[in-house]
Amino acid sequence: MTTPPPGATRLVHGGKQPRYEGGRPVNPPVVRASTVLFDSVAQQLELRARRDSERNFIYGARGNPTNFALEDLVTELEGGFRTRLFPTGLAAIGMVLLACLKPGDHLLMSDGVYEPTRHLVRSFLVPRGIECSFFAADGSDAARLMRPNTRVVYAECPGSLLYEMCDLPALAALAHEAGALLVADNTWGSGLQYRPLALGADISVMAATKYLGGHSDVMMGTACATEAAWAPLNQTCDAFGMTVSPDDAWLVLRGARTMGVRLAQHQRQALEVARWLQRRSEVARVFHPALPGDAAHALWLRDCHGSNGLLSFEFAPAIGHDSASRWMDALGLFGIGASWGGYESMVGLYDLGHSRGAAWTGRGLLVRLHIGLEEVEALLADLAQAFDALASQRAG
Ligand SMILES: *Cc1c(COP(=O)(O)O)cnc(C)c1O
Repeated sequence: MTTPPPGATRLVHGGKQPRYEGGRPVNPPVVRASTVLFDSVAQQLELRARRDSERNFIYGARGNPTNFALEDLVTELEGGFRTRLFPTGLAAIGMVLLACLKPGDHLLMSDGVYEPTRHLVRSFLVPRGIECSFFAADGSDAARLMRPNTRVVYAECPGSLLYEMCDLPALAALAHEAGALLVADNTWGSGLQYRPLALGADISVMAATKYLGGHSDVMMGTACATEAAWAPLNQTCDAFGMTVSPDDAWLVLRGARTMGVRLAQHQRQALEVARWLQRRSEVARVFHPALPGDAAHALWLRDCHGSNGLLSFEFAPAIGHDSASRWMDALGLFGIGASWGGYESMVGLYDLGHSRGAAWTGRGLLVRLHIGLEEVEALLADLAQAFDALASQRAG
């Protein structure tokens, strides 16, 4: 048997949390913990007895003080009872649906949802006996599609890529009359520009990966519930051991502090780019709810407190996939990739024929832009030179 090297005990037991007098930092510290220690068995048992009704620090899987600080920030933004955190936005959506649905139930979901949400439903929930149907992203046929076993109405408002808006208070009334919950994906609004819980939703989900994090360096999902909808969600999260790293929670907290000024700049610049694109002959239609004339504009004025850096446009029918790709490749300031909500501009190409089906048949290719915090004049000049490059290639 080999004896441990000298000092092994000191290595394990030395350097405990120092106790000191003084003030406290502005920001919550990063508390990394799996194990949590108690002063006595009695204290441990007493805290454990309250763990399902109260938030306390008893084991890393149930959160830690850094995560609690972010949960509280999101709860304040969303105006709910309490919040849970998830490793991604999609994980938050999946966990909420698992918490609220069981085999034999029906889920009525907006056709405007983020594509991986649709995939989650089709590939996981439907094979496990949960029925699902999709309502038009403007909500127009939702009442007709309700079933006696509808337990969740799920909206994403504004919708992904086309930013359709539905009347959330009307959907809430429809759901509640049938004894169902209304769940909303609030990633677009990020808790500042849109507040689903105030409009009648029971649970609001966000991908904090986008504007809350805001710097393209962290993945995170949040789900904030009303008091009535909280317990089943919280229990399901505990059953699955859902938690996030305190380092990631700290990054989101760090990013979120400046979200207000970032969004003000994103939305001002996106509206300017949207107006500029409307005047281009290569563009058939621009989608941005803050644009007067957009199909969602009236509801956006009624229910939103602002917009953001997202806009999409449909290329004129003559511009096919090769030309659209060349146009994107010619851009110098727009990153080609997925996601959005960082400080930088992004561009992505979408063929909506796959997801929106008949509603998009015969339409052009769709480009989504995320307008970042660069100077808008530089972004417009970049877009213009890419259109010019396309025109000279088409002529040549
Ligand atoms: C990005 C996004 C998500 C998923 O977030 P991840 O953190 O990437 O999993 C969910 N909903 C919407 C509307 C999104 O844009």
